[in-house]
Amino acid sequence: MMYRPEQREEIWNTLQQPWDILVIGGGITGAGIFNAAARAGLKVLLVEAHDYAFGTSSRSSKLVHGGFRYLKNRQFNVTRESVRERERLLRQAKYLVTPLYFLLPSLGFSRATRQVFRLGVTIYDLLAPKWAHGDLSPKQIHRICPQLTNDRLNAGFYYYDAEVDDARLVLRVIQEGIAAGGTALNYTGAETLLFQQNGQVAGALLRDNAPSGNGQTVEVFASVVINATGPWSDELRGQVNQPPRIRKQRGSHLIFPWAKLPLVQAITLLHPRDKRAMFVFPWEGVTVIGTTDLDHPHELEIRHPEPAITTDEVGYILEAVSYLFPDSQLGREDVLSSISGLRPIVTSGENNPSKESRAHTLWNDRGLLTITGGKLTTYRLMANETLKCCRNMLSGSPIINKNQPLLDQSLVTKIKDLDDTTRHRLLGRYGQRADDLADACPEDELTCVEGLPSLWAELRWGARQESVVHLDDLLLRRTRFGLTLPEGGAGQMNRIRAVAQSELRWEDPTWQFEEARYRALWKECYSLP
Ligand code: FAD
Repeated sequence: MMYRPEQREEIWNTLQQPWDILVIGGGITGAGIFNAAARAGLKVLLVEAHDYAFGTSSRSSKLVHGGFRYLKNRQFNVTRESVRERERLLRQAKYLVTPLYFLLPSLGFSRATRQVFRLGVTIYDLLAPKWAHGDLSPKQIHRICPQLTNDRLNAGFYYYDAEVDDARLVLRVIQEGIAAGGTALNYTGAETLLFQQNGQVAGALLRDNAPSGNGQTVEVFASVVINATGPWSDELRGQVNQPPRIRKQRGSHLIFPWAKLPLVQAITLLHPRDKRAMFVFPWEGVTVIGTTDLDHPHELEIRHPEPAITTDEVGYILEAVSYLFPDSQLGREDVLSSISGLRPIVTSGENNPSKESRAHTLWNDRGLLTITGGKLTTYRLMANETLKCCRNMLSGSPIINKNQPLLDQSLVTKIKDLDDTTRHRLLGRYGQRADDLADACPEDELTCVEGLPSLWAELRWGARQESVVHLDDLLLRRTRFGLTLPEGGAGQMNRIRAVAQSELRWEDPTWQFEEARYRALWKECYSLP
C-alpha cells in the first residue's frame, strides 16, 4: 500500500538499510523500473523529490500511441515499438488505457499528399499489427464531427490509437510495485551521489522535502543507482562528470469545457502556420488540444515553480482551433485550464525541436544508470532494458516478468454492485484495489463530480491512501480536478476541504496554507498568462 499520512515517518526511518536498487525519480520511467524490480523480488527503493508524476508524466498528451508523426521523421523503430506497446496496454491495462478513434481530415491536401497520409495510416497499422483504418468522404466526416467546418475539407482518414490518464498510470504502476514488496517515498530528493573508494556510485544523500520532515537527510546505499529524473537527468549526471545531453522541450495544451467543443473522437491536424502535427481529443470530460514544441530556457525554469504556457503558445493553439472549427468562435475566455510539460529529449543537435528523436537512451556512468528520453507508452520496454543492464551489478540473477506490466484486474471479483461505467473506471485506475476503494467510501461518493466522469470517492481514496502531502497532489495528480473543473475546482472547494481535512488531519491553518499555495500555483502554471 502507498503510505497513509501517519505512516510517512515510519517509512523514512526504514531507508537506512542496504538496497539492491535505488531508483531516483517517480515519473513513469522510474515507476516502471520500480515495479519490474519489485516483482523480480529485488529490494528496491524509489524516491521522488516532489510528488509522484510531478514531472512530465502528468503533463503529456495522454496518448498511448505510436506517434503517427514520427513516421514523417522516419523514426520507424520508435513507432513500431510504441504501437506494439499500445496494443499490449490496451489488453493488460484495460479501462485505464482505452481505444481512441482518430480523424485525420485533409484540409486542402493535394492528391499526392493524401496518398502519403493513406500510406502513413496503413504502415501505422501494419507495424502494430492490426487493420483498423480507412478513407472518409467529407460527408462522412461531417456526420462524425459536425464542428469541423473548415471549407477546405476535401477528404480524410480514420485510424485508432489509445488514451490514458497519465498520472493515474504512474500511480497504479507504483502502487503495484509497493504491493510486490518495493518501498516508495515521494517528497524525497536525491541531493548528492555517494561514491565507493574506487569512484563507483554507491548511493545518494536523500533529503525529506515534506513539510513534516524539517529537511532531515539520510545516506542510502544500493548495489545499483538508477537516474530516472527525466528532463532533470543532467543534474545527477553532472555529479559523475558527464556533459549535459538533455534538451528540455516544452509542450503545452489548452483545455476547454467539453460543452464548448463536444468531440466524441480525436482529430489529428497539421497546424496552418508550420504544418506541425497536433491533436484535439476528448479526455476526462473535457476537450484537450495541443501540443506546442519549444525549447524551454533556463530563465523560465527559474521564474516559474512549474512549466507554464506562454502568451505566444496560447495564440498558436487558438489559431489551430479556429482553423479547424471556424464556427466555434472559441477564444481565451473559453479556456478552462492549461498544462505544460518538459520533454526529456536526448539531443542530437537538430535545429528544429520537433525533429529530435523520441527514442530512449541508457547510459552507465561509473555505476550510475541513467535512462531517459522515450515515451510514456514505452515505459515497460525501458524498464526491462534497464533491469537487464543491472543484472551483472547485482548478486544473483533476478527473474524479470517482462510481459505483464500490470497486475491482472480481472482477479477483482467482489466489486460492489456498480454500473459498468463506474466499475470499469475503478478497475482501470485502481486495479486490484478497486474493491477496497468501493468498500471504503460512502455510497453517495460513488457518484460523478458535476459534469465529469470522476467520482467523489476518488478524492477521498486519494487523500486517505495515496501518499498526499500537498493539496496540489490531490487536485492535480490523484484526481485531475485542477484541470477539469472551472477555476481549478474553486466552486467545489468546500466539499474538497471537508474531505481533505478529515482524511489528512489538516487543522484550519494547514488547510488555509494549502489552499492559498494551490490557488497561487494554479493561477501561475495552470491557467492563462
Ligand atoms: P518525468 O515524468 O519528468 O519524471 C522525472 C521525475 O524525477 C520528476 O517527477 C522529478 O520531480 C523527479 N526528480 C528530478 N530530480 C530528482 C532528484 N534529484 N531526486 C528525486 N527525484 C527527482 N508520451 C507518450 O507516450 N504519449 C504522449 O501522448 C506524450 N505526450 C507528451 C506531451 C508532452 C507535452 C510532453 C512534454 C511529453 C509527452 N510524452 C508523451 C512523453 C512522455 O510524457 C515522457 O517521455 C515521460 O513522461 C517521461 O517520464 P520520466 O519518468 O522519464 O520523466
